[in-house]
Amino acid sequence: MIADKCTLRRLVRIAGVVQGVGFRPFVYNLAHRANLRGWVRNTSGSVEIDVEGPADLIEDFIGALRTEAPPLARVESVTHIDADPAGWPDFRILESESSDCASSVIPADVGTCPKCFEETLTPTDRRFGYPFTNCTDCGPRFTIIHRVPYDRPNTTMSLFEMCDECASEYRNPSDRRFHAEPIACPKCGPNVWLEQNGGRVPGKPLTITGRLLWEGHVVAIKGLGGFHLACDARNEEAVREIRIRKGRVCKPFAVMVRDVDEAGRVCRLDAGARELLESRRRPIVIAIKAGAGIAESVAPGNSSFGIMLPYTPLQELLFEHCPPALVMTSGNLGEEPLAFTNSSAKQKLGNLADAFLMHDRDIHVPCDDSVIRALPDGDAIVIRRARGYVPESIELPIDCGCVLGVGAEQKNTFCLAWGRTAVVSQHIGDLNTAEAFDYYTYAAEHFGSLFRCEPEIVAHDMHPEYLSTKYALAKGGVTLQAVQHHHAHIASCLAENGRASRCIGLALDGTGYGTDGTVWGGEILTADLADFERAGRFAQVRMPGGEAAIRDPRRMAAAFLHEAYGPDFERVSRSIDIDFPAFEQELIRRQLTTGLHSPLTSSAGRLFDAVSAAVGICRDRTYEGQPAVELEAIADESELGTYSAPLIEQDGLLVLDTISVFRAAVEDRLNGTAPSVIAARFQNSMADLLAQACVTIRDRTGLNAVALSGGVFQNAFVFTKTRARLERMGFEVLSHRLLPPNDGGISLGQVAVAAARAARARVK
Ligand code: ZN
Ligand code: ZN
Ligand code: FE
Repeated sequence: MIADKCTLRRLVRIAGVVQGVGFRPFVYNLAHRANLRGWVRNTSGSVEIDVEGPADLIEDFIGALRTEAPPLARVESVTHIDADPAGWPDFRILESESSDCASSVIPADVGTCPKCFEETLTPTDRRFGYPFTNCTDCGPRFTIIHRVPYDRPNTTMSLFEMCDECASEYRNPSDRRFHAEPIACPKCGPNVWLEQNGGRVPGKPLTITGRLLWEGHVVAIKGLGGFHLACDARNEEAVREIRIRKGRVCKPFAVMVRDVDEAGRVCRLDAGARELLESRRRPIVIAIKAGAGIAESVAPGNSSFGIMLPYTPLQELLFEHCPPALVMTSGNLGEEPLAFTNSSAKQKLGNLADAFLMHDRDIHVPCDDSVIRALPDGDAIVIRRARGYVPESIELPIDCGCVLGVGAEQKNTFCLAWGRTAVVSQHIGDLNTAEAFDYYTYAAEHFGSLFRCEPEIVAHDMHPEYLSTKYALAKGGVTLQAVQHHHAHIASCLAENGRASRCIGLALDGTGYGTDGTVWGGEILTADLADFERAGRFAQVRMPGGEAAIRDPRRMAAAFLHEAYGPDFERVSRSIDIDFPAFEQELIRRQLTTGLHSPLTSSAGRLFDAVSAAVGICRDRTYEGQPAVELEAIADESELGTYSAPLIEQDGLLVLDTISVFRAAVEDRLNGTAPSVIAARFQNSMADLLAQACVTIRDRTGLNAVALSGGVFQNAFVFTKTRARLERMGFEVLSHRLLPPNDGGISLGQVAVAAARAARARVK
C-alpha cells in the first residue's frame, strides 16, 4: 500500500511496566491484525511505536494499547504526535535502543504460568520435567537483571547460549516465548543438581530430594530470589530440628503446599486469601490454622501461619516427589540476609542443611518472599513487600528530582524516586549486622545504576544511630533531609494514597526518635507531606533499662504497673506473677523511680507488650512483635466491651490515658476474666480512644481525613476496628495498601517529605 492523503502516521510512546511483559509482540500482533505498518521497539524507559495506516484504524490501535494490554503490563501513559507518512513497507519489531533516560521500569518476578507448568508435565513436550521453563508471561525478572534495557544479554541468562529451537521461539512474534528473555530448555538452559557432603549426588536430583524430605531431612533449595530451608511441615521432629539449627524459638515458619486443595486442608482460606495465594505474585499469605495437617512447631502459640504455593517449575516438579506441605523458611541464620549464591549458601547454610538442591542460573539480587495478610472484607495488609511486587513503582502526588530515602533501621527498605515515580526496594531486613549492611549498600547501589538515577537529595531518619542514617550522612555532594520517624510513616500513607494535603495521622509503632529527645511511638499528628505538628500522644512511661525493656515485655509491665499503682506496684506485680529475681527487681525499682537508663516513651508497641505480659499471654519474647502478635491471636472477636479512659490536655498535647486502660486490664485479670476477653477489650479500647482523639482534633482543626500508619496497624483487629469507628464518625480513612504499615514503608515517606520540602523551597 502506498501512503496517500488518508494515511495517518503516529509516533507513540508508552510508559509504565511495558518491558519484559510481552508488550512488543502484543503491539506487533495488534498492528498486523489491522494491517498497519511501521515498527515498535524498547527504549530504556518506554516502548516506542511508529505506525501508519488509515486514520480510524490508527485510533482503534491506540485505544487497544491500553484496553488489550498483556496481563503483566501496566500502562501508565500513552503519548503521541502525528508525523508525515513515511511509507513503511510492513510492521516490524526493532532492536532495543539504549538511552540515558532514567525512567525505566522493570517488571517483578512472576510465578510459573499454567501453560508452562502444563508443558513440564507433558511427556511429549520438549520441556517435560524441565525446572527452568518460562515464557513471556512468567518467570524470573527483577532478580536476574544486571542493567537495563531488559534484554537477555543484560541478565544472568547471558551465560547460556540459546539452542536453535529456543532461538526460533524467541524470534517468532507469534510464539508465546517471543522475547522471553530467560527462555531455556533442557538442551541449552540451566541445570539442577543435588549436593551432599560437598559432592554431587548421582541420580535424579528432584526424586532424591523428595526422598530426603520424606525421611525428615532439611534441604536447602535455591528458589527465585534466594535459598529456602525446607523440611516436611507435617513432621514434628523435622520442624523442631530446623528450629534448633536456625536458632529460631517460636517465630512462625512459612509453609509451601503442593496446591490450593492442600492449602484448604491445612488452613482456613476465604475468597480473598485464596485469590492472593493463587495470584501470579505468589506471596506468603497469613492464614488461620485448620485441621491437623501441620506440625505444632510450625507456629507454636499462634493461631495463624504463612502459606504459599509453588512459584517456580523447580518447586512445582519437586512436589511430584516430596511431602505435600513443606516448611520453606528463608535460607539464613537468625536475621541475617538471605543466602543467594551457591557458594555463600554452602558456606552459611552448611550446618543448617543436610543437602543442597542447587542450580546454575545466578540470582543477581536476592529478594525474599512477600508476606500479605488478607482481611475478611477483601482488603489486605502488606507485611513484607519483596518478590512479585518489587520493583513496581508507586506514583508520587508531587514531582521531585532524584531523591533517595534511606529507610529505617528495622524491616528496612530504601526508596529511589524521580519525577513522580517512586520505587521502593525489596525488604532488606534489620540493619544491625555487617552482612545486612553490606546487602543494603549492594542493593542501594544496584538500584542507582538500574534506574540510572544519581540522588540529589538524600532523606533519612532523625535517629543518629540508625545505620541507614549513617549511610546517608556519609554520602557527599547531596542535600540531606532529616525526617522524623512518625512523620515519615504518615507521609508514606499519604503518598501511596496520592495525597499531599494536611490530615490527622495516627502513627502507632514500637519506637521512633522524637524531636524532643524522648522515644515516640503512640503519636497523633496533624501533617502534610512537608511538615507536621504533634497533636497528641499516648501517656508516657519509662522503659526500665532501655533496650532491655524492649526485649523483656515483663519490664514494660512493671513500668506501667509503677505508673498505675505508684509505690505499691510490686504488690500488684506479684499478684499477677510478674516477678523478677531479687537483684533485678531492685534494679528495676531504682530505674523506675530515678529514671536511670530508662528513657520516657509514648510507644504504642510497648503498651501492647506490657498488657500481653501483665495478662499472662506472652512474657517471654523470642522475636520482635511476639507479645502483640499473641495478644491479637488470642483476642475473642465476639467480645465488644471496652475500658473507658479520659483524654487529658497536657502541655498543649492531647494525652490518651493509656495508663488507665492498662490498669483496667490488670483489674480484669485480678478478677479472673479470661485473657481472650481482656485482649479484646484492650484492643477495642485502643480503637475507641483513638477515634475520640480524632474527633477532638477535628473539632479544633477542621481536618476530616485520618491516615493510619505504623507497625501496630499490622494488627488486623486494631486496624479494622479503628477504621470502622472512624468511618462511623464520618472520617475519611487513609490506610496502606501497597506498602507495609510497619517500618518497611518509611522510605517512601522520607522521599515524599523531602520532595515536598524541595518543591516548597523552589516556590519561595
Ligand atoms: Zn509461562
Ligand atoms: Zn534451548
Ligand atoms: Fe516505625
